[in-house]
Amino acid sequence: METFVPLYISNICDSSCLMCNLRRNNPNVKRVEANTEIIRRQLKIIKDFENISAVCFLTGERSAPADRLHNLKLIINSIKFAFEIGFKKAFFNIGSLTAGEVRILSQEFNASEKPKLVLSLFQETYDRSAYSKYFGNDKSGSKADYDKRLSTIDIWVEHGFSAIDIGILLGFERPLEDDINALIAHANKFVSASIEVYVSTPRIKGGSVSDDTYKMVLKQIRSALPKAKLILTTRESVSFINDVIDLFDVVSPGSSDICPYSYDEYIPNNVSTSQFIIDEKRLRPSVVLDQINCKNIVHYNKQS
Ligand code: SF4
Repeated sequence: METFVPLYISNICDSSCLMCNLRRNNPNVKRVEANTEIIRRQLKIIKDFENISAVCFLTGERSAPADRLHNLKLIINSIKFAFEIGFKKAFFNIGSLTAGEVRILSQEFNASEKPKLVLSLFQETYDRSAYSKYFGNDKSGSKADYDKRLSTIDIWVEHGFSAIDIGILLGFERPLEDDINALIAHANKFVSASIEVYVSTPRIKGGSVSDDTYKMVLKQIRSALPKAKLILTTRESVSFINDVIDLFDVVSPGSSDICPYSYDEYIPNNVSTSQFIIDEKRLRPSVVLDQINCKNIVHYNKQS
């Protein structure tokens, strides 16, 4: 079992995904971007206090070229610092990328660092009409561009990177079975090319996917993708995580609030700054890991 901690460093977003708290037209969100000093402090807490050496950086998806470049530089600097202080793996989820942006990333990371860097980019749905309904069809919002999103993974791999995290979002209306099959085919394309493939299948809180349906979907994906690494997201409760842990390869405890980690027992998950709200009051990542029924967790040094 692997782990990583999600670290949201900005909630500023130019896209309008219907189900997301961070959509640009949501007036109730207080927009925040962490500075370098705060991000570094967060990484030190995750590494030295939580004893976890894998992280996933997240931001909203920007549209204007200058904003995109600013966001990309913030991410690059954060990843470089993470590697400097000993993180073994860094995921990042900032939306689709142009070929020029992937080229910048490729120039910034050397051959020994590239395998440690995972592009997280979920297509969310492979159904074009559902995509347009839930994620927009206005090409000025970056996420609304279905093809740009899908092609980013190919561009990433063409530039010599070897790890991806793809996925679908469950809980909104579309032919689910078709989507699951499309996800499996997409993942298998990269598994057969010897790429390290992570697969994420989060579900929307309060959406149409019950626990039983979710378990069935997870079992289907697990059996179709024995070589992919299935990620169980931070959205689920500890009891549900323990219920389905055997189907997964990765668990990611944390919060979708901006730079939420401290030395306190609980971590914040405020509706005015988070991407989504978890039902239970969320404990620190290492405490959650200690509550999970799993003997060895890679990237986590449990303190005795
Ligand atoms: S899902 Fe991502 S791109 Fe869409 S509104 Fe939320 S943060 Fe922005």
